[in-house]
Amino acid sequence: LTSLSHSPPLHWARILTAGLIATMIVLVLATLMLFDTYSRQRALLSASIRNTGWVSYQAQLEFVKARAQFDLVMLEASPEALKRLKLRIELLRSRLPLLYNKKEIVVEDILAFKDELKSFETRLDRMSDEVASLPQDQEEVRAALNAWIVELEPLGRALQKVMMASIAYNEGVFQLERELAEDPAIVPFLLLILTGAALALVVVLESRRDRQRFSALLTAQSEARAMEANLRAAIEAMPAATLIVDPADESVGFYNAGAVELIGPTAGAAEWSRFVRATLEAATDHNGRPWGMLTMGFVRAQGDIVSLRGAVCSVVWEGRPQVLIVLADTSRARAAELQVMQAAKLATLGEMATAIAHELNQPLSVIKMAVANAHRLLLSGAPTESVLAKLDRIGAQVDRAKRITDQVRRYGRMPSDQRTPFPIRHAVEVASGFVAEQYRASDIRLSLQLDVPAELQVIGDQTMFEQVIVNLLVNARDAYESAGLRGSPAGVWVRADYDPAVGVRIDVEDGAGGVPEAILPKIFEPFITTKSAERGTGLGLSVARNVVRDMHGTLSVQNVRGGARFTIIVPVSSAAARLDAA
Ligand code: ADP
Repeated sequence: LTSLSHSPPLHWARILTAGLIATMIVLVLATLMLFDTYSRQRALLSASIRNTGWVSYQAQLEFVKARAQFDLVMLEASPEALKRLKLRIELLRSRLPLLYNKKEIVVEDILAFKDELKSFETRLDRMSDEVASLPQDQEEVRAALNAWIVELEPLGRALQKVMMASIAYNEGVFQLERELAEDPAIVPFLLLILTGAALALVVVLESRRDRQRFSALLTAQSEARAMEANLRAAIEAMPAATLIVDPADESVGFYNAGAVELIGPTAGAAEWSRFVRATLEAATDHNGRPWGMLTMGFVRAQGDIVSLRGAVCSVVWEGRPQVLIVLADTSRARAAELQVMQAAKLATLGEMATAIAHELNQPLSVIKMAVANAHRLLLSGAPTESVLAKLDRIGAQVDRAKRITDQVRRYGRMPSDQRTPFPIRHAVEVASGFVAEQYRASDIRLSLQLDVPAELQVIGDQTMFEQVIVNLLVNARDAYESAGLRGSPAGVWVRADYDPAVGVRIDVEDGAGGVPEAILPKIFEPFITTKSAERGTGLGLSVARNVVRDMHGTLSVQNVRGGARFTIIVPVSSAAARLDAA
């Protein structure tokens, strides 16, 4: 269609039609010219035929005249008569070659006399030479001429026959001419003209059909254009930002208004390059699905950050492999998610407050004791070393208190939208640390079995990932509490292992009776809860699944051996995977 719109086939069709019409005109002209030539040839033929008759008649006449001159000279051989005789003989002789030296017409019957006529030419030449040397005496002249007359007699007969042959030939030709005149070659000419007319008809019909075909093509073309325009308009109007990016030079082949509004593609900008890299990574890594998932924060030119979630796939656009990206602005949902995370965290923190106070109390009382001791030692003039030892002890306890407040502060921090590699084992340990005190208070044994290298990294937001583990652990504790199993030996097991083909797998398993069957299929949907309004929001697991999904991982649940087992699988960062492979 594109090539159609560029080349003008109508133009070529016109040229072709014009060419055919010209050919036909030439054909008709050629036919007329042929007819004309044919008529002229016929005229020429009859002229030459007449000519042939005329020549033999002339020869015959010359013979008769010469014969008469012979007779005159025999009566009186005056020099004048002899001169005339010589002239007659020469004239007769000159007529003979004309009978057989015809260029246009060859009459076979006349040609048969050629040799005979030639022999008479030599004789006539001789006679013409001898006229001057004829004897003076009349009698002798007569005798000589008589001999010549006898010698020339066969010529008279031959000329007679030539005349007859010429007449017979002319008769034949005239007959033919008459036939031709009666039945001229009208059929071939008619055929020629008819062929020309048929050709013209074919050309006209063909060109009409071409026009019809062409207009059908034009209609199809304009329909295709309209469809393309519709599709384009639909894509333009779509609330999702749609872009096509060439990975070779990071250039944008197509973008809709949504894309301009959401990220404003700016080639060359550092953030833009980061975005293209992320999309390429997502396009190449989509676990057999046709689309790769992309989740990222994007710093816009005006300085604010938008959360993007979308799908990426490879397409062939304008003949080159490119990447199609469809994005949605998830900033608000993300912000709400972060708020929920934060609320859940603050709730956990509230619950931890007693434990924290208890934890802090210990170093504080040690410090208080050490301060009192140092005071006493200074007053009693004890050696400086013993006072210094007390001060060191104070310092160590301050460090311990600081570690506790650091953890609390870190945990209370508002989660960000950053995706960076972090060591997963450490994150699980930190999260377990947060709930350790609650577990102690609830008399639940927490056992960790983390068969994962300490340096193995995954990509995502560490704080949020820690919150996922905390959510699962808090849910397990709540399950024990609501099941009323408190007091019996309760335990929660956190197991982690790493398989290069799958990634890191973390199981959080309890023995608190499992998830009620009624809510099991929709447990990850928001606001699904069995807890009271004060305790549960029903958001914890839905947020947890989104966090894991953002890390390109999965979160699932199953009931096992009288409890629930939540399983997280997350891919490791490609750098870590490469290291592992090495
Ligand atoms: P919330 O904890 O606020 O109710 P969640 O999304 O974290 O929200 O959990 C949803 C529901 O899933 C809980 O109300 C609970 O009924 C069920 N659930 C979660 N974890 C477990 C578990 N380990 N054992 C049994 N049920 C659970």
